[in-house]
Amino acid sequence: MTEILREKPVKFSLPRRIKRLEELAYNLWWVWHPEAQRLFKQIDDLLWEDSYHNPVVFLRDVDRTRMNAMINDRYFLDRYDRVMREFDRYMKENDTWFSKTYPALHDEQVAYFSFEFGLHESLMVYAGGLGVLSGDHLKQASDLGIPLVAVGFVYTYGYFSQRISEDGWQSAENVPIDFDALPLIRLLDEDGQPVKITIDLPGRKVCARIYELDVGRVKLYLLHTNLADNSPNDRQLTDMLYISDLELRISQEILLGMGGVRALRALGYQPTAWHMNEGHSAFLTLERAREYIQKGMSYDEATELIKKTNIFTTHTPVPAGNDEFPLWLIDKYFSHVWPELGLSREQFIEIAKIKQSWGGDAFSMPVLALKLSDFRNGVSELHGKVAREMWHFLWPDGKADETPIDHITNGIHTETWLARRMGVLFSRYMGADWVDHIYDPNFWAQVENIPDEEFWRVRRHLKRKLVADIINRGRQKWAGNNVHPVKTIASGVLLDPYALTIGFARRFATYKRANLIFRDYDRLLKIVTNPRMPVQFVFAGKAHPADEPGKLMIQEVYRAVKDARFGGRLAFLEDYDMNIARYMVQGVDVWLNTPRRPREASGTSGMKAALNGVLNFSILDGWWREGYNGHNGWAIGEDMTRSDDPEAQDEADALSLYETLEKEIIPLYYEQRSADNLPADWIAHMKESIRTLGGQFSMCRMVTEYMTRMYDPAIKNGIDERNGEV
Ligand SMILES: *Cc1c(COP(=O)(O)O)cnc(C)c1O
Repeated sequence: MTEILREKPVKFSLPRRIKRLEELAYNLWWVWHPEAQRLFKQIDDLLWEDSYHNPVVFLRDVDRTRMNAMINDRYFLDRYDRVMREFDRYMKENDTWFSKTYPALHDEQVAYFSFEFGLHESLMVYAGGLGVLSGDHLKQASDLGIPLVAVGFVYTYGYFSQRISEDGWQSAENVPIDFDALPLIRLLDEDGQPVKITIDLPGRKVCARIYELDVGRVKLYLLHTNLADNSPNDRQLTDMLYISDLELRISQEILLGMGGVRALRALGYQPTAWHMNEGHSAFLTLERAREYIQKGMSYDEATELIKKTNIFTTHTPVPAGNDEFPLWLIDKYFSHVWPELGLSREQFIEIAKIKQSWGGDAFSMPVLALKLSDFRNGVSELHGKVAREMWHFLWPDGKADETPIDHITNGIHTETWLARRMGVLFSRYMGADWVDHIYDPNFWAQVENIPDEEFWRVRRHLKRKLVADIINRGRQKWAGNNVHPVKTIASGVLLDPYALTIGFARRFATYKRANLIFRDYDRLLKIVTNPRMPVQFVFAGKAHPADEPGKLMIQEVYRAVKDARFGGRLAFLEDYDMNIARYMVQGVDVWLNTPRRPREASGTSGMKAALNGVLNFSILDGWWREGYNGHNGWAIGEDMTRSDDPEAQDEADALSLYETLEKEIIPLYYEQRSADNLPADWIAHMKESIRTLGGQFSMCRMVTEYMTRMYDPAIKNGIDERNGEV
């Protein structure tokens, strides 16, 4: 293997005593260790905010005299030493869950491919839920010691920034990412040249650089094509997430799938198992097959082999949401590939053929991944069932419920999403080593040990913090250039830090029905403006720039937010991202989710809320259908789907929503106060939420399941194959 040099783009001049802050800045470990964040905050909290919590920018811009002063601050140095000790312990740990459970798999590797990774707000290589799931997956794999290596893209622009006009119309702004401001490590070969890989596109080669991002112990390799070697068109391949242009899209997916395999090879990796998170990376199956075919196998032999070590997770419960390409594009982009695989055009198309509603054929990425993976799963129990029905035609001999697609319900990375102050309570009342017990079913019952009064105090603190952050954002916009007053008001500056607060934040796709709550507008007006028991709503979320109905839905919500009759108790936060998500899932009282069943494959934001004691109030879809137990939040509607009549379903769900809000949620919050003015029953619900959902919907549970049910058997297949036992 060639020697790979790793180069950090920025050299900081730090006082020697605290020089290792640079190491912290270049490993995302600090993202889920609040004490490490507090180091930066303690140096200069305004700059920490201004740099959007980005240590690379922070260390680059921080005032030298300030930095020098820190080395005389005992309190700071103590924290620094403690954090660095903890970091070293973490990085050098050889006694992890994985090493204890799978000592024989010590030298194996699992490759993990995803279009997007949501690791932190300062790293815009994610769009939404899928990315946050991938990011959380990496953090957890690192925590458990799983030898995972990940592949994705670093984009020139990332995902768009959202602007909302006075009239509520979303526009998209593409802000170029400053690569030097990110903790990206450049990979160079022995001659100091960037490590690159190439892929073949029609009539040309496209090359991509590889950057490394360290996520604790896990490495994420990010491909990027905006290089002088490439034509202007090809330089755009990694411009943005979820481009609608099909040619760019198929090129991107070839780059991720086929290029990603080549990137790992170039860096000397020989993964034993390969996990495709959603179908975007499914071309990796073809590249893996090609590797064997080049060594003399037939296509059938090669695919029989690679299937045993491929894992595919599907996230899309609606056929229209799946990634597929018209056959003319496949002809254009793959006619040079099928001879390499020893296939005719017809045989090649047959691998992933899907019938379109209009009667023609297309090439489907999930079909490709499903057929060439022996391990397949949906992301919640209900979604598993929907996926088995949806893909039944691929296994027509069995019954629908025998379709070989399993499910592993999604989870969230506990330490990333838990409010720091909640973590302090956990440490004090549930054990200083509580993070080692996240997936221990008996552990969470200890939430009962937290005294109600302290618990309530933290919850109130978190809501005040949310409102203060919202007001601060509004004030900053107001001080910026020509903001219309109505936009400032809509941004939430009139919110009340003590009123019952309901959060709704997600992608504005129409099936998510952000407008369901407005179905009976007058009834909602009465609920919100009740002087004794006011209720407020905080909305956030982006619509895909090409999704006009989604943008109309934002506008509908925005118009209500601007309506003076609501008295400023509704707010819309622009540009939803992981930072806003954190404030919201930690700060509101109730988390609302109103998808049209069964289209929410899982959802994860509600899990983040639940962990923090925020009560879910949702349709029984995705994860909530498994999580809800009658005491840990509320259901909207029933455990059934009226797919034949969406209008009737909307009406029934809206009625259920208002009823539950008026008769249960609001009285529970305001009326049932104990002598010391604590809402004792509400607190009991919050603790029940943490007790029953905190562990079950953790990333720790999820990644453990992937390890035991998918990675372990896949790795064993791979080892057998290597030893010539197949
Ligand atoms: C958690 C999260 C999501 C996913 O939320 P859903 O429940 O799937 O809607 C999307 N975007 C951001 C920024 C998140 O943090």
